[in-house]
Amino acid sequence: WPAWPFRAPEPQSPRKSETDLMDLKKFYIGGAWVTPHSSREFPVLNPATEEQIGSIILGDETDVNTAVAAAKAAFDSFSRTSRDERIALLERLLEICNARREEMALALSAEMGAPISMARDAQADAGIGHLEGVLAALKSQQLRETLANGDILVREPIGVCGLITPWNWPVNQIALKVLPALATGCTCVLKPSEHTPMSAAVYAQMIHDAGYPAGVFNLIHGDGPTVGAGLSRHRDVDMMSFTGSTRAGVAVAKDSADTVKRVTLELGGKSPNLVFADADLEEKVTASVLECMYNTGQSCDAPTRMLVERSCYDQVLEIAKAAAAGQAVGNPAEEGGHIGPMFDRIQFDRVQSMIQTGIDEGATVLTGGPGRPEGLDKGWYVRPTVFADVTNDMAIAQQEIFGPVLVIIPFEDEEDAIRIANDTPYGLAAYLQTGDPERAERVAARLRAGAVHINGGGFNYGSPFGGYKQSGNGREGGMLGLEDYQEVKTLHFG
Ligand code: NAD
Repeated sequence: WPAWPFRAPEPQSPRKSETDLMDLKKFYIGGAWVTPHSSREFPVLNPATEEQIGSIILGDETDVNTAVAAAKAAFDSFSRTSRDERIALLERLLEICNARREEMALALSAEMGAPISMARDAQADAGIGHLEGVLAALKSQQLRETLANGDILVREPIGVCGLITPWNWPVNQIALKVLPALATGCTCVLKPSEHTPMSAAVYAQMIHDAGYPAGVFNLIHGDGPTVGAGLSRHRDVDMMSFTGSTRAGVAVAKDSADTVKRVTLELGGKSPNLVFADADLEEKVTASVLECMYNTGQSCDAPTRMLVERSCYDQVLEIAKAAAAGQAVGNPAEEGGHIGPMFDRIQFDRVQSMIQTGIDEGATVLTGGPGRPEGLDKGWYVRPTVFADVTNDMAIAQQEIFGPVLVIIPFEDEEDAIRIANDTPYGLAAYLQTGDPERAERVAARLRAGAVHINGGGFNYGSPFGGYKQSGNGREGGMLGLEDYQEVKTLHFG
């Protein structure tokens, strides 16, 4: 790996400043990279080599106060910018994101182990896709409308936003929060996962280079209990947007309660994938298995519970086994369609222990199992694993494993499939494979999930993303994503 800061090969980006401004040990506050008040160091590790590749400072309460004060000071002026001014800034940011995509991909790959091709074509690309989605929504949003009773409704920026993101799709999640904040005229303080600070630093530099006024966007690093909770409790933060585990999301909601701030939560998932015998089994089951393994299983909406109609159960097991066994695992620095390591040691241990739990619960290992893939003794690599004969009450069917582990559960009929699909605390996404369009509509209507993917996964930028039940509240992306960052004011003329 090259040393930080990464410099992308030609073509070079149109930047005003140099990448070496992105000192990982500094915070970006009030339009400049500043030395934090805290001096608590935290290592950044490369999951493929297990080596330290940098270090950050975990902020303290003073750092939170400084960043929030900068965002508060910038709000009055930025909230009064015109839509056209904000569109121009976002368009400039889009140009820079495109130019620095390679540099972003290197940061993502180094800090969280995403294979470089996927880091470029999916992870870094998500930052660009969401930007296009936000621009389209902003251009068409009605900021002022006359109601049937003659009153006028006005949409205004909510204020200072505290944004907390996880490590698994770092830029995707930063973009889903920072962009609607900037688009609506809010100011913000971002606290990315302490494990993935490099992509966040590149992002901050791109915002700086796009010419945003000082204090509109601020970046601080820190852990959850200090900086995350500090933002949630802060009386000058008007809204918290959080993506991460359900456990931490509940903490953010509780910490925000005393100041009655708005809270949007994007949390965990254990998404069902209903496979009916009338589907194109070879194609759909293979694609579903690969989707479950994608990003080494570290996606909140991965189709991790495959529910299979009994009449095609044996056939599906064979297809799923072959697909998972064929999933290559390897070095993220190399181009290709393989998956990389787990992102850290704790996640590696957790996946190993969940695989053991599945065995102890009596499920059948079709392929994979405990241990490391052959020849990968360094780095936090695990074996793509498929369990058959799983029942929905097993821990491996109920808990988010967050690794390349698929569980397969048979069902008897449509009613049984819907019951099992909805029988988890989560409701982020659901997947449905069937050759019958009427069945697709009928079943989709009864699935308690924020998105239902019919006969294929993927994602269209600009569509809302979010969960039912304990997968969260609020929606990110597109028009609904903007509305989360806005207050509504009624103008009544007497
Ligand atoms: P995590 O909850 O451990 O950490 C997420 C972020 O929250 C980090 O920045 C962390 O520092 C911070 N945090 C932790 N405790 C906190 C607290 N008490 N107060 C405030 N902030 C706190 O999650 P993770 O391990 O980084 O990410 C994986 C989880 O994120 C999985 O559960 C996954 O399903 C979920 N996720 C959800 C979505 C979605 O859109 N629904 C997307 C991606 C990931």
